[in-house]
Formats: sequence, C-alpha cells, structure tokens
Amino acid sequence: MSIAYADKTLTCRDCGQPFVFTAGEQDFYAQKGFTNQPSRCPDCRRAAKAARSGGERDSYGGGSYGGGYSGRSDRGERTMHPAVCSSCGRDTMVPFVPTSGKPVYCSDCFRAQRENRNYDRW
Ligand SMILES: [Zn+2]
Ligand SMILES: [Zn+2]
Repeated sequence: MSIAYADKTLTCRDCGQPFVFTAGEQDFYAQKGFTNQPSRCPDCRRAAKAARSGGERDSYGGGSYGGGYSGRSDRGERTMHPAVCSSCGRDTMVPFVPTSGKPVYCSDCFRAQRENRNYDRW
C-alpha cells in the first residue's frame, strides 16, 4: 500500500448529481487496473447495468409501455352507438356496441342504476 486514497466527489454524467467516489472504490479500481474514474453515480450505474442485462428479456413486460399506451387510445377514439334504454325506453347513445339480451341504459338510468348499486353495497 503506497497510495493513500481519499473520498472524491464526482459529477454523474447521466443525472448530473454529485456522488462520492470513495477511497475504497478508488483502491478497488486501482487493483483492477482501471485508470479512469467512474462517470456515473451508483444509482445510474445500476440502472445502466439493469437496462443492459435485462433489456432484451424484459422488453415485453415493461409496464410503462402497456399502461400508458392503452389508456391514451381508450380516451382518444370513443365511438358512440345508438341504443334504446331498457329502463325508460328512450333513444340514447352508448360507448359500446349494444348486445341483444343485455340491458342498455341511457345516461340517466345508468347513473340511477349505479347509485342503487352503491347504496346496496353500503
Ligand atoms: Zn446519476
Ligand atoms: Zn333510461
């Protein structure tokens, strides 16, 4: 042991946050023969590593893609279909294709139904 290491504060290349390159890490780097300093903070290093190792395998289950995308398309194109209310017999428009045999309600009756159900539950 010839060199005394001291903790060093570096700036992360990815997030721009300062992070500590500890004496222990500097020693470790030196033993491994690394001459350059880490350019990322531990968090970003871990994130980069996770993205590299799990990127291909996890690309399907990635959560953020599925959730955000389907939510947007749902709200974007809402096709209304003409129907006759099963409760009051009024002509109405519903945001789904009315299936025969299933009751369809106008917005007023739908709201009444839902309120009834809520009262039942309470
Ligand atoms: Zn960072
Ligand atoms: Zn109705």
